[in-house]
Amino acid sequence: MTDHPQTSDTNRSAKNSVRMSRLRMATLAWALSAGLTVTAWVMGLLEMGALEMGMLVLTVLGALLFFHMALRSGWSNRFRDPSMTLPHILLSVLVGLWIISRAGEARTILLMLFIISTFFGAFQLRQREFMLVALVAVAGYTAITVRDLFSEQIQASTEVVVLELVGFAMMMVWLAWFGAYIARMRRMLSRRNRELREVSARLQHLAEHDELTGLPNRRRLIARLEAAADRARKSGVIFSVAVLDLDHFKRINDRYGHQAGDEVLTELARRASGVLRDADAVMRVDETVADFGRFGGEEFLAVLPDTDLAGARRAAERLRRAIAEAPFETTTGSVECTASIGVAEHQAGESINRTIARADEALYRAKDHGRNRVSSA
Ligand code: GH3
Ligand code: MG
Ligand code: MG
Repeated sequence: MTDHPQTSDTNRSAKNSVRMSRLRMATLAWALSAGLTVTAWVMGLLEMGALEMGMLVLTVLGALLFFHMALRSGWSNRFRDPSMTLPHILLSVLVGLWIISRAGEARTILLMLFIISTFFGAFQLRQREFMLVALVAVAGYTAITVRDLFSEQIQASTEVVVLELVGFAMMMVWLAWFGAYIARMRRMLSRRNRELREVSARLQHLAEHDELTGLPNRRRLIARLEAAADRARKSGVIFSVAVLDLDHFKRINDRYGHQAGDEVLTELARRASGVLRDADAVMRVDETVADFGRFGGEEFLAVLPDTDLAGARRAAERLRRAIAEAPFETTTGSVECTASIGVAEHQAGESINRTIARADEALYRAKDHGRNRVSSA
């Protein structure tokens, strides 16, 4: 009952919105880089005709459109990294190399574009993928440098060009190493977060459930009663309470041992859960089923939502019969056991303590009248 089926959906859409916001950041980085490139082009620093420039722009716009659609439609969820970080960064590196190959002297400035795109890898990439990005960038830049040296396209001295290349390679390797380190830290943090969430869910379950029977404990029952009372106050939805106490349980303990008593309690929890889940006597709204839990010792309590006194009596009667109709098989023998139940319908404006007290009074009447019976307030 503590499971929330919508959690994974919520989680998924939260993750997707993080990815979309990252994609918007990447798009902004593309826009800034485009500004720099177009400025260089207008200033005549790029040896690129209008046709080639048009092709470049179309390539980038097409790719960005593809990434947006793949992410938004959920198509990319089939990949380990639905953000498609690696293809996106490789594309930006290739586009960067394309521009630099046309840039002549201005290329050192344009090299900075690589820093921007490589940094996006810190969100997702693993060491190997980072190294691939660095390798493609450095290999491409080396090829351009070699071409320029042989064609004597640039005025700078060979030493300067080689120094640029070495500096660039160092920077890329360092970026790749550092980026991978950040990505590792991110993964570690998100794993820690997940573990903490799991532990806290487990603790919450332990705090609200009884160890022996696995049923909701007193704390959770009180919370459910408060919620039901709140609902009654706000929308007038009624509810009833049934309090159950086993008959002559001390004798059972005395005759069969405490261990057998425990086994009876566990089996009772199983029978009661079955009865209340299937009880057509309990009217349901929003699939709410009765909450049945251990109130303490050999005393149990059921919160019956949307149920009036007559419905509560029917549910309690089923419960009583489920306990009395068959003996409880324990390790020390077959144990006959019965229960007395008191039911009360919550009255408008009364506290849950008052409702419980009235159900308790009814329970004692049931005991007085010979046990193994249901009494109502
Ligand atoms: P009555 O019909 O009047 O309820 O008689 P009773 O003997 O059941 O009296 P009461 O409800 O006061 O006794 C509760 C007994 O239940 C006392 C205790 O030994 C036993 N009990 C309470 N909790 C546990 C438990 O967790 N395991 C076992 N085996 N026995 C328990
Ligand atoms: Mg008792
Ligand atoms: Mg008892």
